[in-house]
Amino acid sequence: MRVGFIGLGRMGSLMARSVAAGGHELTVWNRTTAKAAELAADVGGGVAASPQALAEACDVVVTMLADDAAVESVYRDLIEGLTPGKTTIDMSTVAVDTARQTAQQVTATGASHVDAPVSGSTAAAEARTLMIMAAGEPDAVERVVPVLETIGSPVLRVGGSGAGATIKLAINSIIYAINQAVTEALLLAEKSGVDRALAYEAFMNSAAAAPVVNYRQKVFVEPGTTPVSFTVDLALKDMELILAQAASTGTGMPAQEACQSIMQAASDAGMGDEDMGMTAVYMRRLG
Ligand code: NAP
Repeated sequence: MRVGFIGLGRMGSLMARSVAAGGHELTVWNRTTAKAAELAADVGGGVAASPQALAEACDVVVTMLADDAAVESVYRDLIEGLTPGKTTIDMSTVAVDTARQTAQQVTATGASHVDAPVSGSTAAAEARTLMIMAAGEPDAVERVVPVLETIGSPVLRVGGSGAGATIKLAINSIIYAINQAVTEALLLAEKSGVDRALAYEAFMNSAAAAPVVNYRQKVFVEPGTTPVSFTVDLALKDMELILAQAASTGTGMPAQEACQSIMQAASDAGMGDEDMGMTAVYMRRLG
């Protein structure tokens, strides 16, 4: 398939490489053009001049963008290049309403849309083990499964438009609660005189050892020694979406509100571009 990929950030650059490695003909576009040129040169793909030009040249277009504003801005141009038979897949983490509005915009052109956010880190993106939550018209979802399977596994079929975004936000609410719980537990152990690395080793072998606890070990135990995987500010963006969805559905999420206030304080202290696991460093500084 001729596949277009838009959004070559920490996640998208790895996912686009997986699509090319899966044997699809790849064309890319990125707001910062240099990243597109570098990736295309590496994998032997093409660079489009705009999202519209990319859509005109491809059967399937994948987007992996920072937030709702980025998705809205890119799709405004992208839809100009869509025609019936083409399919767009948005894999960014966005609001449920944004996922549904994007689907409406795309289907108005006669093309199809799938919202397919992912769960997993940059390490999972590299290993092609991202869990994918694909939502939309069943025919459209099945058509793009061969592309999604180059990016991750399993590819769950989760329902109609917006269901992918809903489940992704629900999962992330658990991740942020775990992140805050690990932060507090680590500080409790340290302040009680237990070695940080030994305490974390025990967490990883305990009943509380979720995958996210395991793969953030270095960030918590040796902060600042590993590349940033997911920023404090992207976590805050998600928490805003989670709490907005909670408010609009009348769901009480007091634990998530508490996590948000700590993450916000870390961002306000200048840590917005650091890894979200650096909340432990922020709280350690508080004394
Ligand atoms: P990132 O490294 O910050 O990359 C963001 C991408 O969006 C870049 O390509 C950026 O372009 C583009 N972008 C931002 N604003 C834009 C705009 N106004 N117009 C056009 N393009 C714009 O973020 P990431 O970590 O890859 O995350 C991408 C998405 O995946 C987010 O929704 C995030 O919540 C979700 N996610 C991330 C992880 C993770 O572990 N990192 C895991 C699961 C899901 P430039 O290169 O020009 O800045």
